[in-house]
Amino acid sequence: MTTSPKIEHIETFLVDLPTIRPHKLSMTVMSGQTLMIVRIRCSDGVVGIGEGTTIGGLNYGAESPESMKLTIDTYITPFLLRKDPRNVGPLMAAIAKSVRDNHFAKCAIETALLDAQGKRIGLSVADLFGGRFVDRLPCAWTLASGDTAKDIAEAEEMLGRRRHNIFKLKIGRSAVKTDVAHVAAIKKAVADRASVRVDVNQAWSEAAAAGAIRALEDVGCDLVEQPISAANIGGMARLSARARIPIMADEALHGPETAFAYASNAAADVFALKIAQSGGLYAAARVAAIADAADIGLYGGTMLEGAVASVASAHLFATFPKLEWGTELFGPLLLTEEILTEPLDYSDFSLKVPTGPGLGIALDENRIAKFRRDGVNRKVHPMPALKTGS
Ligand SMILES: [Mg+2]
Repeated sequence: MTTSPKIEHIETFLVDLPTIRPHKLSMTVMSGQTLMIVRIRCSDGVVGIGEGTTIGGLNYGAESPESMKLTIDTYITPFLLRKDPRNVGPLMAAIAKSVRDNHFAKCAIETALLDAQGKRIGLSVADLFGGRFVDRLPCAWTLASGDTAKDIAEAEEMLGRRRHNIFKLKIGRSAVKTDVAHVAAIKKAVADRASVRVDVNQAWSEAAAAGAIRALEDVGCDLVEQPISAANIGGMARLSARARIPIMADEALHGPETAFAYASNAAADVFALKIAQSGGLYAAARVAAIADAADIGLYGGTMLEGAVASVASAHLFATFPKLEWGTELFGPLLLTEEILTEPLDYSDFSLKVPTGPGLGIALDENRIAKFRRDGVNRKVHPMPALKTGS
């Protein structure tokens, strides 16, 4: 007699990894990245893994790696234990009833359940979403050293190695004039060998954006990402109507409802689709369907995630019939440490989507143990002695 598998154990832990260089965005400068890893062990011996990662702790949004761990340990794990792990959709719907928002935490759990289910039945996560249209995804690189000459050297190196020929420039920290000169210099250097795009991460006012976008068009920029506040949907619509180059929404998209609001207001030409920000792979697939119906272009975005969440994203993005703006799943390349037993294949300006069951990857347990925040190698910062007396 066969019995239904049950979820037996859910483990969450934080992994702190350095970045290869400081990564400068309009709202923060990152020198390291923290991955929240979740591992779900089932009674049939199957183990699924998931990841939740943010950009600069709480700089980007309302969730942090630490808060995801707490949300899962305290509110999601007690619900999931002893449940049948195969009913991924119904389980996630039940979690949504008792855990509001917390999209990143839910995405990490959903990823682990999908990885487990794929391993259980011998299909990749892409297969679970209907099968892949492509084996490789175009992959952009973000130039964000904060220095024009360094960024050009980095772009040349990436072109020379045939690793990336799409470059996203993080701007919005400096005056518009300085930023436009930075973009112009990089576009002039790479010319027709690469696409140059910018991400402003909401830093501009609508008035500043209107002028800046005109200047960016003139220097050969191909796309402008989230130039103004995500909340200013009317402003995004006005900028999209006026601009000669596409305007992309990113921070604005928190799942199907916000995607529908943006689509119905013609507030973007392109959506940066992110599994974590959408609330999981199913939610991201629904965002993609809204984009498709509204004739909005798709771009596979990243939360600068490590290998686990980047691969989960890749599996979903590979199932889209149209992904005209490619992806930016370069997060693992920004980290100094390899955490997989077999590194991902970044070559020929693209990322290969793994083909094995589930996510098709395995964690290198020795590397993970070395960088776990709760591990033996963690850095201990002693508390400064308190001054006593008057
Ligand atoms: Mg962005």
